[in-house]
Amino acid sequence: MTPYDAIPGQGPQALTDGFGRAVTYLRVSVTDRCDLRCVYCMAEHMTFLPKAEVLTLEELDRIASAFVALGTRKLRITGGEPLVRKGVLGLIGSLGRHLSSGALEELTLTTNATRLAEFAGQLADAGVRRINVSLDTLKPDLFRRLTRGGDLAKVVAGIEAAQAAGLRVKINAVALKDDNAAELPELIAWAHGRGCDMTLIETMPMGEVEADRTDQYLSLTALRAELESFWTLRDIPLSTGGPARYVEVAETGGRLGFITPLSHNFCEACNRVRLTCTGTLHTCLGQDDASDLRAVIRAGASAEDLVEAIRLAVAGKPRGHDFRIARAAAPAVARHMSTTGG
Ligand code: SAM
Ligand code: SF4
Repeated sequence: MTPYDAIPGQGPQALTDGFGRAVTYLRVSVTDRCDLRCVYCMAEHMTFLPKAEVLTLEELDRIASAFVALGTRKLRITGGEPLVRKGVLGLIGSLGRHLSSGALEELTLTTNATRLAEFAGQLADAGVRRINVSLDTLKPDLFRRLTRGGDLAKVVAGIEAAQAAGLRVKINAVALKDDNAAELPELIAWAHGRGCDMTLIETMPMGEVEADRTDQYLSLTALRAELESFWTLRDIPLSTGGPARYVEVAETGGRLGFITPLSHNFCEACNRVRLTCTGTLHTCLGQDDASDLRAVIRAGASAEDLVEAIRLAVAGKPRGHDFRIARAAAPAVARHMSTTGG
């Protein structure tokens, strides 16, 4: 129980930005660290944050709970790799109280699944029902190269353990022109064959990495056209309030989402904001806006002060992003996806 569990008068959808969009979805990055180094996400040699800069689990709980009091209905725990953060299952278990109270509709997680086999049961016990697993290839060698050292077998075992624990798994893959483009139909069929939805993501220009993103970028509009040359794709109105547009693949019976930040801008219906593990609130993935909630709470803020700081930050949410991929261009934002929380 935190003071936010009892703030009176904070009804659902109480958080609204300057363009009238209700903010009801918070992503919380619990660490900038990861046991993998995906080539599009991290540089090979990353400098990670010192512990003192990272919010404690109690501080993360406090801020997330303040959002719930302000009408947040969906919380996604992410990173870095959330399951490498020590004690993260305690945090997730504690946030589960908002599910029990009815304040929160969904508590979920995005993970690379390397440690999922170990934690799947505890996640289910905490009230998590669905998770996203990032997986770009089924080829062990390519997986090792793309993740700079990862073991595909662990990820597959993690997915199987999650399903055995009753969790629904959605597979997310970043579409990479040279690396996995040709394999994507097989990956989609594999996911659908296991009862998993699948979402494809265009590479986003976030943070400096070694590779040139012009080389990696694959337009999902073009990929969709290619898939339609051998599959029947039917648009479905499934809305997660997020950027993905979904189709059903008649031949596999599964659902496929396309997240197209570059070939299609999706900001008009954006309902989400992101909290980094250092307590910085980013109200847009593709802009440099930032509010320091760590400074607010470490200065001894009351529950009401924190709520006010959150309201102020959300009021300034930008209209949208302007991602572009150009050869040798600087990233749209300097921070990496692993810092912001994908
Ligand atoms: N480590 C966890 C994982 O990989 O699922 C959670 C964090 S990761 C940053 C979240 C998602 O961001 C992953 O699906 C990853 O593929 C995606 N991602 C990372 N960098 C990206 C980029 N530059 N463009 C598009 N997606 C990216
Ligand atoms: Fe780690 Fe996820 Fe980034 Fe890959 S995408 S390096 S698994 S944080």
